[in-house]
Amino acid sequence: MTETGKTIRAGVMGWPVGHSLSPRLHGYWLKKYGVDGTYEAIPVEPDRFSERLGQLAGAGYAGVNVTLPHKEAALHAVHTVSPEARRIGAVNTIVMHPDGTLEGRNTDAFGFLENLKSSRPGWSAAQGPAGGPAVLIGAGGAARAVAWALVNGGATEVRIVNRTLSKAEKVAGDMGGPCVVRPWEDREAALSGARLLVNATTRGMAGEPPLDLDLSNLPIEALVTDIVYTPLLTPLLSAATARGNPVVDGLGMLLHQARPGFEAWFGIAPEVTQGLRAHVLEALEGP
Ligand code: NAP
Repeated sequence: MTETGKTIRAGVMGWPVGHSLSPRLHGYWLKKYGVDGTYEAIPVEPDRFSERLGQLAGAGYAGVNVTLPHKEAALHAVHTVSPEARRIGAVNTIVMHPDGTLEGRNTDAFGFLENLKSSRPGWSAAQGPAGGPAVLIGAGGAARAVAWALVNGGATEVRIVNRTLSKAEKVAGDMGGPCVVRPWEDREAALSGARLLVNATTRGMAGEPPLDLDLSNLPIEALVTDIVYTPLLTPLLSAATARGNPVVDGLGMLLHQARPGFEAWFGIAPEVTQGLRAHVLEALEGP
């Protein structure tokens, strides 16, 4: 699209950022909704984040997404931080207001829950996170967003299991509420009576070994989701499907987390559709 004086500009700041699916995703919506806007990949070296952020704001950008390795730096580089981003400890979406204020948000928790709700309406109708115990494997940046989504969504119990125990304890302490920590060696016992199982580790990603987890103790009706989306069907999701558990893949989280940013910058609440999913999948699957 040719830029006009009214073109609204946004993008994603990261290092490296060439692999980011966000330009493809937002580009699809810009075209679909006929918005006079652009969304670009903005490579920013780790020590130049604040400087570049200021430049983009000065150049009239409406806002940006923030990806690795800048999500924590972004927390300190903005003027206001949403309570959710503060709790999760990372900012992935920045809204640049006309008065110069930079507002930091985190939309990963929103994306995680929206993905489950839209993919499994039955799970959502049966009280969603409040319907029974959840087991969360992992305690990294993404796991913090999932833990907050579950706690904020009314979870009765979130069993956090991580290879490094101290990190699980930190997440449980920061999120509070119904979070309990189970040692890595007890991860299979922790599955008993669970209604939701989430993998938020890097295990199962293309090039990584599968998550080492025997599902025998997991109730057959428990929903299993993986936030890893390359491959779409991770070994965990394959194993869960084979024994009859319902599953939700992680691509929807990525698609849904983008909605609040697009709406704030471009003024249209976008929809996650099969068309969008297919468009993004095309890039993941390659030629
Ligand atoms: P991170 O902060 O580096 O955390 C990595 C997690 O994986 C930690 O809990 C780590 O445990 C665990 N882990 C690593 N190697 C392991 C091993 N050998 N055995 C057991 N656990 C291991 O990463 P992140 O940013 O949270 O991202 C995690 C995954 O989520 C990535 O695959 C990322 O692409 C994906 N993700 C998806 C979305 C989405 O929209 N679907 C959004 C964000 C992230 P320790 O603490 O013991 O090291």
